[in-house]
Amino acid sequence: MTNRPSADAGREPGFSTLAVHAGQSPDPATGAIMTPVYLTSTYVQEWPERHKGFDYARTVHPTRLALEKNLAALEGAKFGLCFSSGMAATSTVIEALSSGDHVVCGNDLYGGTYRVFTKVFARFGLTFSFVDAADLKAVEAAFTPRTKLVWVETPSNPLLKISDIGALAGLAHAKGAKLAVDNTFASPALQRPLRLGADVVVHSTTKYLGGHSDVVGGAILTSDEALFKEFKFLQNAVGAVPGPLDCFLVLRGTKTLALRVERHCANAAVVAKHLLAHPEVARVHYPGLPTHAGHALARAQMTGFGGMISFELKGDIERAKRMISSCRVFSLAESLGGVESLIGHPASMTHGSIPREERLKAGLSDGLIRLSVGIEDAADLTADLDSAIVASLKS
Ligand SMILES: *Cc1c(COP(=O)(O)O)cnc(C)c1O
Repeated sequence: MTNRPSADAGREPGFSTLAVHAGQSPDPATGAIMTPVYLTSTYVQEWPERHKGFDYARTVHPTRLALEKNLAALEGAKFGLCFSSGMAATSTVIEALSSGDHVVCGNDLYGGTYRVFTKVFARFGLTFSFVDAADLKAVEAAFTPRTKLVWVETPSNPLLKISDIGALAGLAHAKGAKLAVDNTFASPALQRPLRLGADVVVHSTTKYLGGHSDVVGGAILTSDEALFKEFKFLQNAVGAVPGPLDCFLVLRGTKTLALRVERHCANAAVVAKHLLAHPEVARVHYPGLPTHAGHALARAQMTGFGGMISFELKGDIERAKRMISSCRVFSLAESLGGVESLIGHPASMTHGSIPREERLKAGLSDGLIRLSVGIEDAADLTADLDSAIVASLKS
């Protein structure tokens, strides 16, 4: 998977080295150190079917290929495939199933994932059960003879629940099913699900991998060759591929992933402790807090606790809306994982597509506030939250 760092063949390069180099070699024509953005839809052939491995850009593209190899190396996967969005990557995993198949899913998923499962794929005869993926007994009880896939996010969105990837993989495999993990929240800098037994990793590269809120993209990583062949077939057959510039931007983003994630984690730890001690805050969800139900598990399967926090203010939903609209450093916006701090209200924004009863059942209250803690100075972030909380007291 790697080009330059493999000079010492016996030695596995570290994560940061892979992030900078994997999948990329100097451009053969010029020596350009950066992978070119090949703006081309087709490639000249010498003779019918005789070409340099590239025939049509939906099927195979050099900038995309560099990114696919880079992301595969970061997740410790044999194979990588990139898509035009995280939802396109997610949909491709489900498109590999057939009518009548059943999927056991976590009940605390990205709203768009819930929407595409229940509003699109359900129309094609696939069935989905939503359960607390942190509760292995509940997951086991949801299996049917038609279950082919278990789909989880850990840490989950937006409650940051932690589920045991190794145990879920064991459960799925014992029943002849596969385990897919949406690793968008942790990123491979903090968690590598394939090493823990998962069969498929999915990413929205829009988030931490891109890291700069300037691109939308997705990826699937796997070491299972049969699954890879099916996903590769679907990538070409369905055609939800990313453009060359988008691939370049994500490739540039991953070079600094390790550095950025270190700061996201450090800042989030400061912000979470600060909120926990705040008299106007009712509850804080952050896996790095010893009070978090999944803390020990997060410590065991992750190398850091990430940059995402959710919390509840005292008072009603209107107060929560006033608070998030009063921040000056945190921007009120959907999305996460960029260098800038974002604040949002899942019930009306990212998770608005989940019916209210379903949301409440999953523990997602109307007043819950979600933070994507950026890489700014931590003191500016806590000061911003404090003044917004004060502003929210005045209606
Ligand atoms: C954003 C997100 C997605 C969807 O990705 P897009 O790139 O927006 O299509 C899927 N899963 C998680 C956890 C996300 O945060």
